[in-house]
Amino acid sequence: MAIIGQMRFEAVFFDAGETLVHPHPTFPDLFAEILRREGHDVGPETIRERIHVVFDRFKLAADTNELWTTTPEKSRRFWYDVYGIFLADLGIAEEGLIDTVYRAFTDRSNYAMFDDVVPALEKLSGAGLKLGVVSNFEEWLERLLDDLGLTPFFGVRVISGVEGLEKPDPRIFRLAIERAGVTAEASVYVGDNPEFDVEPAAAVGMFPVLIDRRGRFADTSGARITSLGELPGLLGL
Ligand SMILES: [Mg+2]
Repeated sequence: MAIIGQMRFEAVFFDAGETLVHPHPTFPDLFAEILRREGHDVGPETIRERIHVVFDRFKLAADTNELWTTTPEKSRRFWYDVYGIFLADLGIAEEGLIDTVYRAFTDRSNYAMFDDVVPALEKLSGAGLKLGVVSNFEEWLERLLDDLGLTPFFGVRVISGVEGLEKPDPRIFRLAIERAGVTAEASVYVGDNPEFDVEPAAAVGMFPVLIDRRGRFADTSGARITSLGELPGLLGL
């Protein structure tokens, strides 16, 4: 059990992408590397400058309640759309390149976990907290967690591509809470996205923690950490 003020926590749930795991070395670097291999010289800086195009597509999906990770077909269609829009924005129109990009970003060997993950999980589980994952991800997240040696930490794994429910739907959070046998009030949720992680977790009564690894949300009003190393301390451990 962990205590902040009068709050007593029994479980901590985590988002996966950009919270626990990331494309290796980074999304822009991997994207630039794929393009270079295919004969297009677009540097990671350009990818970083234009990546808001991808975020805009995510925002549209959220605003229109488009579920894109709940089946492999929807996921594939969504990502083809995202990569197609992004490549067009970069001025690249090449048959087959979208598929090459999609395959690279669904290849588990192109993912890694952040260095602060294992020490934080060890500390939290050592303090008796139940740990879980609630993620909008394809079903292969199970195998990625296995590859990274993280599965033993997470007694509860709720993955949109397996469950057919997707954040910010409150039901995906409730499912995780129910499986862990805890209440929302005794649960912490850690994620990197205000709209998909923080707001919906707070709405179901969990204690939300924003992980802001790149310092994009310094003015946020709620609990915010920039590394998982800060999480045990935040929870009073
Ligand atoms: Mg994320």
